[in-house]
Amino acid sequence: MATYLQDAMNEGILSQNHRSMPFMEMLKECILVFKQKQKIPNNYEVYFTSSATECWEIVNQSLVKNHSHHVFNGAFGEKWFEYASRLGKTTSSSKFDFQETFEGNISSSADVWCFTQNETSNATQINNSFFGKLNTEALIALDVTSSLGGIELDWKSGDIWLASVQKCLGLPAGMGIIICSPKAIKRAEEIGDYNHYNCLLFIRDNFKKYQTHYTPNILGIYLLMRVMQQVPDIQTINSLLKERAKDFYEFISQETNLDLLIKNEEVRSQTVIAIKGTVDEILVLKQKAKENNIILGNGYGAWKDTTFRIANFPAIEDWEFDKLKTLLSQ
Ligand SMILES: *Cc1c(COP(=O)(O)O)cnc(C)c1O
Repeated sequence: MATYLQDAMNEGILSQNHRSMPFMEMLKECILVFKQKQKIPNNYEVYFTSSATECWEIVNQSLVKNHSHHVFNGAFGEKWFEYASRLGKTTSSSKFDFQETFEGNISSSADVWCFTQNETSNATQINNSFFGKLNTEALIALDVTSSLGGIELDWKSGDIWLASVQKCLGLPAGMGIIICSPKAIKRAEEIGDYNHYNCLLFIRDNFKKYQTHYTPNILGIYLLMRVMQQVPDIQTINSLLKERAKDFYEFISQETNLDLLIKNEEVRSQTVIAIKGTVDEILVLKQKAKENNIILGNGYGAWKDTTFRIANFPAIEDWEFDKLKTLLSQ
């Protein structure tokens, strides 16, 4: 990453105007290589925004006709629902237990169904197979903020995919990504929303020319391009991370006194692992980690003092996991 930053300085891309040829060529290459490595279908479109949170709002403004239905088991999904509820269109929700596999029938007449595919707050995920079975006229919107770049997603089973770059993609914070199927684009055209600076169609009109409607995060786009050029394709990353998650889950259950927050193996996230202990155990571990320059993610909300979270993201190296294991088995 340090080399890429230095290159960005040396190449002068950072001082380019965002309507200049060099910028446009970079944006084009970035989207191309991102789609290639993530195996995103050709007819899906990729746009950059400021954050995943902004994408939640874009979905509501530009893709929901009347009503969005939100299915969630944790804090990020709930927050999406709450934001959407304040924006004026009808919302409804199904909340499910985070230890359970979601199998509920959705009988909602909503025109967009929203899911948090990987719920970062409690380290659970909904599997591809679930989305593949949904049969509806509604658009399927998925928050993949903490899984995009780390797991193989079944793009065809969703219409709107949103994320930001600082989690699983391992980049500096400050950029969001929204990926749309042809069905989603068609919907945006039917709705024809041009009332906000960040309307999907307005973004799209600019991206068609490899431009952006406001000065974008040029460094973010450059770094994403460089990282995507260098990483293996998503199938390879997916297998490596799957193996490492499995190994780490086994290690926690078999070789430590700690517990896994998520008991149901089927719903355990591949990219975020939540580990549970007593308040004292967690306190001691966090102190030890700090002394060893390891950053443990805090537990979320009510689990703040009794859990911590480990990111199984591609940018994290195996030796870092080994170091963590040594620490946890002491
Ligand atoms: C972090 C996170 C977000 C918010 O991302 P921002 O880039 O801060 O807007 C949304 N959804 C999930 C699942 C997240 O993990």
